[in-house]
Amino acid sequence: MPILKVAVPVPLPQVFDYRAPRGTGVRPGCRVEVPFGRDRRVGVVVGHASESDVPPGKLKPVTAVLDETPLVNGEWLATLQWASRYYQCALGIALETALPVGLRQAKPLPFEGYRALALSAHGRQMVSDPPLRRGSRVRSLFERLAEGPVTYAALDTDLPGWRDSATALRHRGFIETVSLSASAPVGARVPGPPLNPHQTEAIGAVTASFGRFQPWLLEGVTGSGKTEVYLGLVEAALARDRQALVLVPEIGLTPQTLRRFRDRFGPAVHALHSGLAEGERSRAWLAAARGDAKVILGTRSAIFAPLPALGLIAVDEEHDASYKQQDGFRYSARDLALVRARALSIPVVLGSATASLESLANAESGRYARLTLPQRAGAAKPPTLHIVDQRRARLVHGLAPELVSAIKACVQRGEQALIFRNRRGYAPVLLCHDCGWHADCERCNKPMTFHRGRGRLVCHHCEAERRVPVQCPECHGPALQPQGQGTERLEESLGELFPGVPVIRVDRETTRNRGAMEALLDRLGPHQSGIYVGTQMLAKGHDLPNLTLVAILGVDEGLHSVDFRASERLGQLVVQVSGRAGRAHKPGAVYLQTHHPDHALLAKLLRGGYRALAESLLAERRAAELPPFAHLALLRAEAKDGERSLAFLNDAAAAARETEPGSLDGIEFMGPFPAPMPLRAGLHRFQLIASSTDRARLQACLPRWLDRIRALPSARQARWSLDVDPIDL
Ligand code: ADP
Ligand code: ZN
Ligand code: ZN
Repeated sequence: MPILKVAVPVPLPQVFDYRAPRGTGVRPGCRVEVPFGRDRRVGVVVGHASESDVPPGKLKPVTAVLDETPLVNGEWLATLQWASRYYQCALGIALETALPVGLRQAKPLPFEGYRALALSAHGRQMVSDPPLRRGSRVRSLFERLAEGPVTYAALDTDLPGWRDSATALRHRGFIETVSLSASAPVGARVPGPPLNPHQTEAIGAVTASFGRFQPWLLEGVTGSGKTEVYLGLVEAALARDRQALVLVPEIGLTPQTLRRFRDRFGPAVHALHSGLAEGERSRAWLAAARGDAKVILGTRSAIFAPLPALGLIAVDEEHDASYKQQDGFRYSARDLALVRARALSIPVVLGSATASLESLANAESGRYARLTLPQRAGAAKPPTLHIVDQRRARLVHGLAPELVSAIKACVQRGEQALIFRNRRGYAPVLLCHDCGWHADCERCNKPMTFHRGRGRLVCHHCEAERRVPVQCPECHGPALQPQGQGTERLEESLGELFPGVPVIRVDRETTRNRGAMEALLDRLGPHQSGIYVGTQMLAKGHDLPNLTLVAILGVDEGLHSVDFRASERLGQLVVQVSGRAGRAHKPGAVYLQTHHPDHALLAKLLRGGYRALAESLLAERRAAELPPFAHLALLRAEAKDGERSLAFLNDAAAAARETEPGSLDGIEFMGPFPAPMPLRAGLHRFQLIASSTDRARLQACLPRWLDRIRALPSARQARWSLDVDPIDL
C-alpha cells in the first residue's frame, strides 16, 4: 500500500504516515490535508513508504491534496530537517515556524502575480491638485501611484491597509489595476553610483564563485558601500537567471532599504518579514516558490523562503543578534544561510562593519574568504573618536561640560547631533532620598524604570507596571528622586540646554506605530540642525547626511557585564553607532563618556578600531575555550519554586553522566548555575551548559541526552528548553 510521510505543523517530533490517495502520485513538497486527532491539518509530504508501523486498518487516508506541483523542493525539506535535528527542535515546530500561517490552511493560494495599481487617465488629470484631503491614507496612496504603477506586493509592504483606500479611489475612477511584467521597473529606475575599485573587486570575486559553495566575509565600515556590493551581486545573479536572497537585521529592513532594491530591480523584489500580515507573507512566499520573486529581501525567517533557483545569499550585519531566534525553534538564520549555500553549491556573503568573532575565526582559518572595503564610499571620512572622562567632571544633566560644548558647537554650525543612550524611560531608578528605598519589581528583583510621561513605573524585564507612588512607601517621606538618565529625561534636558533646537527622541515608545521611526528620522531636513536622542534603534538604518556628532552615554554598564560576549557586543555597538557620524561630506566626531577612560576595551578600540579589539577578544576566547573555539548547548530551566528548576537541572546533569560511557568523552558539563537574571517575572531561573571543542561530538550526544531528560519526572516540574549555539548566557 502506498504511504505518504507527512510533516505536520504541531509540536511533535515525528512525521506521520497516511494512506496515499489512489491514482496519481503525490510528490514530496506538496501540501496535503490530513486528519489529525479530531481536527484536520495541513502538512507537507516529505517522502513515500510502502510499509508503516501503523497497522493498515488504523492508517488514515489523506483527505485532500492541495498542490499539484510541489510547493517546496527537496533542498528546502532537507534544510528544515537538518535544522530540526541540529537545533534539537521537533520537526513539527520547525515547520510551524517556517511555513506561513496562510499556507497552513486548506484554502486556494492567495497568489496575485504582478498585479499592480496605476492611475487611470482620469486620475492622471488630477495629479497637480487631487481632490483628496491632505495627509489622508487615500491621498498617500494616490501620491504614491502618481510616481508610477505599484505592485500589490509592494503596496502590502509599504502602505499597509491600502486595499480600503484603493476601493475608495476605484469608485471615483482615479485608479485601475494593471499587470506588470517581472522585469518592469517601478517608477523611475535609479542607477547606482559608479563603483569604486574595492567594490568592483568584491563583486568580481564573488561573481567568479557563482555555481560553487564559497562563503565570503565582506568587511567594511558603515557607509563603505556594502549594500552597493549586494546590489551588484544581485544584478549578476539575475543576469544568470538565478534568484537572490538578502537577509537584513530586523531594524535594517526600512522602507529606504526596500526602495533602494526596488529602484534597482523593480517588482521582482519581495519583502519577507514578521511585520507582514499573513496574506502578505503567504503571497511573498508563493512568489518565491514559483520563481516570480527574483529577489527576496527579508529578516530572520526569510531564510526559510523556498527559492528553487537560488544563486546567491547575502547576510547584512551578520553579527546582529536578531538572526538568532530566542524561543521555540532556536535557529540562527546566519548559520542556516551557510547550510543552504552548501547544499545548493552557491556563494554566501556575510557582510559587517563589526563581524562576529565566529565569522572572524572562520576567516582566519581560511574557511571563509575575506573581502574588504577599506574606506567609506564617496567622499565621506571616518569620524574621530574622543573619550570623555566623566570622573571629576561636573555633569550637567548627566552630560560632561566638554560634551555639552561640542553639541553646542555642532548645532551652531547648523549640523545634527545624536545622543545615544540604551535606556528608555525617564530614569532607571526611583530612589527615596531620605531612607534609600527604591522601586523594585518584586517579580524580577530589579529596579523599575520611571516613565515620567506615562506616570508609571515599568519593569523592563517582565513589563510589569505600576503607578508612581506620591510618597516613599517605607518612610512616607516626599523625597522620591529619579536617579540616572533615560532617553525621556535626556530629551527634556537637551531641550532645556538648547532652547529652540529641535530634539527628536527615537525609542520604543516614540516608534510604536508602523513607519513612525522613518517619520521621526525624516523630521529634520538634510540642511537643518537638531538633536536626536535614542536607544540602539538609532544605531542603523536611514542615512542622515547632516549628522556630524555622536555621543555615546552609559557604556560603563557594558564594561561590567558577566556575559562572555558583552565586550564583543559593546565594541560592535560603539562602532555601529559611531558609523552614524559624518557619512556625507562633513567630518564626524564621536564622544564616548565613561568613568573608565583607561579601560582596556576602550583603549583598544581607540588605538586599533574594531579589528584590534576583535583580535584580542579572540585570543581570550581561545585561551578560555569559549565560542568560537568551543561549541555550547544551554539547558535553561525556570519555575515558580526555584528548588524545582534546580532539581531538574541536577537530574539532567546526572542523566548526562549515566549516558553510555565513552559517548560523553570530550564534553564538559558546567552548572547548574543561576541564570544571569536569576528571577524573572516571578520565575526562578537556572542553567546548565554542555560544552565541547568538537561540534560533532556535542551534536552526537544531544539527542540521547534529551531522550533521558524528557523521561525525568522532574522535567514536568519546571519549564525548560535547550538552546544550541546560544548567544546570550
Ligand atoms: P553600507 O551598506 O556599507 O553602509 P552603502 O552601500 O549603503 O554602504 O553606501 C553608503 C552610501 O554611499 C550610500 O548613500 C550609497 O549610495 C553611497 N555609495 C556607495 N557606493 C558608492 C560609490 N561607489 N560612489 C559613490 N557613492 C557610493
Ligand atoms: Zn523613604
Ligand atoms: Zn519585572
